[in-house]
Amino acid sequence: MSDQTSQQAHDEPHGGGLGTRLNWLRAAVLGANDGVVSTAGLVVGVAGATDARGTLLTAGLAGLLAGSMSMAAGEYVSVSTQRDSEKAALAVERRELREQPQAELDELTQLLAERGLSRDVAREAAEQLTERDALRAHARVELGIDPDELTNPWHAAGVSFLAFTAGALLPLLAIVLPPSSVRLYVTVLSVLAALALTGWWSARLGAAKPGPAVLRNTAGGALAMAVTYAAGTLLGAAGV
Ligand SMILES: [Zn+2]
Repeated sequence: MSDQTSQQAHDEPHGGGLGTRLNWLRAAVLGANDGVVSTAGLVVGVAGATDARGTLLTAGLAGLLAGSMSMAAGEYVSVSTQRDSEKAALAVERRELREQPQAELDELTQLLAERGLSRDVAREAAEQLTERDALRAHARVELGIDPDELTNPWHAAGVSFLAFTAGALLPLLAIVLPPSSVRLYVTVLSVLAALALTGWWSARLGAAKPGPAVLRNTAGGALAMAVTYAAGTLLGAAGV
């Protein structure tokens, strides 16, 4: 790789086991959070306009399916694109290793030295890594990716679909199962509790303070429900 591109690669976040698992967890929590908020907003809005359980069920289920498929499709596209660019970078690396192995060895030595190894140790390490699996070493040190662990777009899409669906089921069941006199209370309370939980969890995953995240997340959900309920009530009262 040229100096310029290796510098860019150097700035990229590192791949690897723990980071990858955390990314999956974070994506799942965010997907579930999305499912809770958007479906809660939807069913509370419709509940502002009508008491009919069948209508609430239809609206909530349509929202659940539309949202989960939209999430999955978006995730599929974005991960596919990322995977394509990772594969292209690996192909370039493979060619450079074949055509200019000495320059690549120097480059790996330089990258290891930048990470704090002395010149001699970096050289020794670079030689050993090159002997064992040169492409893998360059992929990890230079590109920050593991050639054996490229994210599968179908896997990413599946996780998003399931996470959103799990989140969306909560407000959907909370609005259709209880008697009509209490369904709004049950829905609002269970949604706020769930959002407190996902806010707390995502803060913990990001090693941030949970308090502000819980507050922001529940406030966001409460606002979404208040706005759609007001809109639904107005439309219901107008007989639309
Ligand atoms: Zn290289």
